[in-house]
Amino acid sequence: MSRFIEVVKALRRRRESAVACPRCGSLAIRKSSGMDGWMLPPLYLCSECGYAGRLVLEVDRETLAGDRK
Ligand SMILES: [Zn+2]
Repeated sequence: MSRFIEVVKALRRRRESAVACPRCGSLAIRKSSGMDGWMLPPLYLCSECGYAGRLVLEVDRETLAGDRK
């Protein structure tokens, strides 16, 4: 049974992912709140480089935290 709990924990952790801009790698990217995307995947806008698109990098927050220099 403890095995099952471990799996659930792992799944929960996976949900804690952030999105990053595929062009500049910035985390300053957010979903567009436009009305046009109601039937489509969300459109993302990067405030760093102005990228706009549906393709984003998914990054693990824990990976980011461990990547500090
Ligand atoms: Zn960008």
